[in-house]
Amino acid sequence: MDDLINNYLLHILPEKETWIKEIEEQAKIDSIPIMDQVSMHFVTQIIQIKKPKRILEIGTAIGYSALRMHDACPKSQIVTIERDDVRYKQAIQNIKHLNKEKNIDVIFGDALEKLEELMDKEEKFDLIFIDAAKGQYQRFFELSLPLLNSDGLIITDNVLFRGYVANPEVSPKRYEKMVEKIIKYNDFLMNQPEFNTSIIPIGDGVALSSYK
Ligand code: SAM
Repeated sequence: MDDLINNYLLHILPEKETWIKEIEEQAKIDSIPIMDQVSMHFVTQIIQIKKPKRILEIGTAIGYSALRMHDACPKSQIVTIERDDVRYKQAIQNIKHLNKEKNIDVIFGDALEKLEELMDKEEKFDLIFIDAAKGQYQRFFELSLPLLNSDGLIITDNVLFRGYVANPEVSPKRYEKMVEKIIKYNDFLMNQPEFNTSIIPIGDGVALSSYK
């Protein structure tokens, strides 16, 4: 990713509300990987345009993106899944603190299981945001399909993973397998016969996939 452009985009973002800055600070202190600010700004705009009634998020962390998505469309109901006990509890606390527990339902557990349970309950969503274990993106996407309304949108974060997907030779050894999986996922996304996907090179790379 071009750091110069990203830094420029970051610095021209409008001033954010205090609660947003507080959660960003909390994530920074505890080294929690929340969505890049420029990408988050973009996703909130997509949400303002699309006005989804129901949003499903895979990967809550401490509730930052769920709260930002809800803030972008206050009428939306959000279901979000997190498997890490400490982060789950922190998300619940942040959501309660902002009085959003009626709007944001945090499910504790592995998304691979929880998505099947949502499917069994025949739940449907207008927007699905994939932001969890990158090695499982394709599985998350496949499991999301039965849950997506016909005019729905799937957003996937980190699809350019620090720029290494475009230049895997320079990827540190510890990321090689993950980079390989993301490259495969991007190929999979771009070749879905029923979907149009665009990859936006902001933040860590955001993919938008919608039915043709
Ligand atoms: N969306 C969050 C935000 O921007 O505020 C950040 C999510 S963070 C990048 C990814 C989270 O997904 C981590 O907290 C991790 O514990 C969780 N996660 C990873 N794999 C998961 C899985 N299979 N099921 C549920 N949660 C998972």
